[in-house]
Amino acid sequence: MKVSKTYQLKAEDVDELFAKLEQKYVIYAPVRIQGGGRYAKQDSILYKPVHKYEEIEYNERSTYSMKEVLTPITQTLFYFTEDEYRESKMKEKKDILLFGRACDINSIKIQDRIYLKNGDTEDYFYKRVRDKIKFALMECADEFDGCFCCSTGTNRTDMYSIAVSFGGDINNVEVKDEEFRKYFQNYKLSDYEIKFPVENKLKVKFSVIENLDMVNKIKNHPMWDEFEDRCIGCGSCTVACSTCTCFETTDIVYTQNANVGERRRTCSSCMLENFDEVAGGNSFRKKISERYRYKILHKVYGYNARFNDGPMCVGCGRCSARCPELISYPATLNKLCDAVEEIKKQGGNENV
Ligand code: SF4
Ligand code: SF4
Repeated sequence: MKVSKTYQLKAEDVDELFAKLEQKYVIYAPVRIQGGGRYAKQDSILYKPVHKYEEIEYNERSTYSMKEVLTPITQTLFYFTEDEYRESKMKEKKDILLFGRACDINSIKIQDRIYLKNGDTEDYFYKRVRDKIKFALMECADEFDGCFCCSTGTNRTDMYSIAVSFGGDINNVEVKDEEFRKYFQNYKLSDYEIKFPVENKLKVKFSVIENLDMVNKIKNHPMWDEFEDRCIGCGSCTVACSTCTCFETTDIVYTQNANVGERRRTCSSCMLENFDEVAGGNSFRKKISERYRYKILHKVYGYNARFNDGPMCVGCGRCSARCPELISYPATLNKLCDAVEEIKKQGGNENV
């Protein structure tokens, strides 16, 4: 039985609503940054605090995902002296209302698994932000170029407090979370139902790689060779990825006193040279094609082997959109499917 209610709001009503919500929440949503893109005269769309309806970029996919609200590109975790440390203060004192698409909200489930359920210890600095977040689902009336959320099953979600269908003069807002009801008492009820994508033009198949024997055969397949020349190892795909979580920690010591400093966590990437360097200077994936292979197999096999949760991908399409070398992640996945089939046909994986 549907317990949520939907309300109809004009644009000015949404501004009024935001003013009321802002007493309790900081509202984060995708915002267009004019001229802030990679190339001249290109914009970028980033997650920023918003106060008004018109600030939200509703009609295009954000350049980066909502993960930047939870795990900024760089953040100070704590400050230290010789014998004590102090935790960094949180940027937001209020709770956070985070606007995002179904795929992006689903990506937070994957982030949660990696930061909160990967071993015995939760990541404290992730959790302290995560505990403050409620989601506002943004309806996808049309798909964006290169999306394939229907192939990853991330086209729907029920993990939201409110859901919005913004359309200028008439805006529909479904209220699912009791806590939000009080903000909507003055608005007209509507029978609108929030829509989810049901089919994408782009369809992607994820290979089923059932065991390590097949992984090892796939690792030696020649399909990876082309990426040695094509990929430049810039890490742009993983920084933009909704589900990638790699970071590095650095202790910054202050010039005047080397016993005092701060520990920072900075977004990183398995695609970068030296990311996997260990004590003694050894590195496991020296070639770019090996790093690309690692990334793809982690998405398709490694994450699922660890969490039994399907691929580590929500089909947002940002990785391909951000790649300066025009490397298509869906095309790689399709090649991987062909390679798996080829190995099976050759009888090269008796255990599958
Ligand atoms: S791998 Fe690509 S499509 Fe999948 S979640 Fe990451 S950026 Fe989106
Ligand atoms: S964005 Fe493209 S070129 Fe850069 S690391 Fe990723 S696949 Fe390679």
